[in-house]
Amino acid sequence: MSPLSVFDRDQLIQKLSSEHFDLLVIGGGITGAGIALDGASRGMQVAMVEKQDFAAGTSSRSTKLIHGGLRYLKNLEFGLVREVGRERAIAHCNAPHLVVPEKMLLPLVKGGTFGKRATSFGLWLYDFLAGVNSDERRKMLSKKQTEKEEPLLRKNILKGGGLYTEYRTDDARLTIEVVKTAAKYGALPINYCKAKDFIYESDKISGAICYDSIEKKEFQIKAKIVVNAGGPWVDKVRQTDAVSKTASVLKKRLHLTKGVHIVIPKEKFPINHSVYFDVEDGRMIFAIPRGKTTYIGTTDTDYSGSLENPEVTKADAEYLLKAVNEMFPETNLQLEDIVSSWAGLRPLIHEEGKSPSELSRKDEVFISDSGLISIAGGKLTGYRLMAKRVVDLVNKKLDQSHGRCKTKNIKISGAEFSNSEEVDNYIQTVAKNLALHGLGRYEAEHLVRNYGKQSDKILKQFLELQDNDAAARLAKAELWFCLHHEAVYHLTDFFIRRTGRLLFDIGSVEKLLRPLLTEITKYFNWNENRREQEQTEIKNTLSNAKRFL
Ligand SMILES: Cc1cc2nc3c(=O)[nH]c(=O)nc-3n(C[C@H](O)[C@H](O)[C@H](O)COP(=O)(O)OP(=O)(O)OC[C@H]3O[C@@H](n4cnc5c(N)ncnc54)[C@H](O)[C@@H]3O)c2cc1C
Repeated sequence: MSPLSVFDRDQLIQKLSSEHFDLLVIGGGITGAGIALDGASRGMQVAMVEKQDFAAGTSSRSTKLIHGGLRYLKNLEFGLVREVGRERAIAHCNAPHLVVPEKMLLPLVKGGTFGKRATSFGLWLYDFLAGVNSDERRKMLSKKQTEKEEPLLRKNILKGGGLYTEYRTDDARLTIEVVKTAAKYGALPINYCKAKDFIYESDKISGAICYDSIEKKEFQIKAKIVVNAGGPWVDKVRQTDAVSKTASVLKKRLHLTKGVHIVIPKEKFPINHSVYFDVEDGRMIFAIPRGKTTYIGTTDTDYSGSLENPEVTKADAEYLLKAVNEMFPETNLQLEDIVSSWAGLRPLIHEEGKSPSELSRKDEVFISDSGLISIAGGKLTGYRLMAKRVVDLVNKKLDQSHGRCKTKNIKISGAEFSNSEEVDNYIQTVAKNLALHGLGRYEAEHLVRNYGKQSDKILKQFLELQDNDAAARLAKAELWFCLHHEAVYHLTDFFIRRTGRLLFDIGSVEKLLRPLLTEITKYFNWNENRREQEQTEIKNTLSNAKRFL
């Protein structure tokens, strides 16, 4: 049985409901995925439930950077900068195709957050604490050099710049690959399955009643320890714990803030590097080139609406456009230039009297009287260490019967490369193969950055399929792979979280919608009603990405 094949779901549920697990993880975002991998690789019997698709919460809605936390330096949190810097290096080593070094430009402007000397020292210290290689260290630029690097920057306020290294990733792909790696170590992860109630033995949680929203039925999962990695839903999950809900939830609770990103076609906002720049209100935002687009983010505002579907408002979009138009005046971006967008919720820990930007991004673990372990806060970048802390605790509760954390040296699935050079060589090989079919470098980058070495399986399937349109044939091969190995149940899973197309290549979604709808309908044997429902869902998602209320 392959737990991430949609064709093995019955067997998966059979196993989940009949075995007794050491650990049940609630939440299939990066935090839950990291915990499942850490536990399974120490030999624990691990189950993981995700009520939506894997990464459908905050873990597909971030800025998609694995970063060392420059803002921590401003608060003199040197230990934290060192810690995340080192984690960044580990994340790159374990997934060189997916955690990719990229130059970031910090423009120095009159009245900006950072002065020239402070920036030079700060970036040097940043690199030093993170143990960065000599070829990746920061370089300070004169005004002229900065203008040359980024000609669109506002010239009359520019004083110079600092060019340093950060890492970009795809948060949802990172999450799914960590989930798959956990499954390789024996974990049983399931998506579209909600933990709706707890089961108890003498007031201690001993599992959960789960609801499978694909087959629409309930079943129980029994486990010695349950971890709540519910991200923005952490408090909701804690509130279903009948034994300790009031006391523990009141003591510490989440403070949700919303962060929005907008996507602009590259030709409308062509920048050469990622740029981290000042905004009038004292905040800083990113502009990041990616494929055919440049994306901009983020906002940071208090939030209390729907957790499943946070919306991008007109005010959010206008705030980001204004910031770009101030710093890059020639772009003159308008609402109509936005081709896609997303909003995510930061599950931060509430601190009385603090504004959204002042709240700490550190993670915290809460343990309730019923034994439920909840983890919230933190960053994508630190997921491995967060998982280690939680699983160390789980191990203690299991009488230290399992060994130490091993994830520092575990390559995630598809990442069988020693370094970035090997990734580049592999992209070239894939591009050569695809060129025989009228495709090329763009498609090769797409495959390898998303699936790493697993691209071989997709290419093999590509050769077996029939379709005169090579791009559609390749997408069908990808869909085949995602159904068999990545638990895709809806086209939105595929277009948003497995391939990123809805965010960064929305034109391709419009083109591929029909052939892929026909293809997925065949695999699932859907009737006309179900097919129409799927079509409506993806069409609504497409229009919501460009609609601002
Ligand atoms: C705008 C923004 C930008 C960010 N940028 C960055 C960045 O560039 N770099 C970085 O390092 N970090 C960044 N972060 C932070 C990072 O994205 C988050 O820390 C991380 O994704 C949180 O992951 P999580 O797994 O804890 O939560 P989530 O990804 O939300 O996962 C929780 C999951 O639990 C599931 N769930 C909830 N209740 C149940 C239940 N009862 N049963 C089953 N499943 C359940 C949900 O469906 C959800 O998928 C950013 C965050 C935001 C909002």
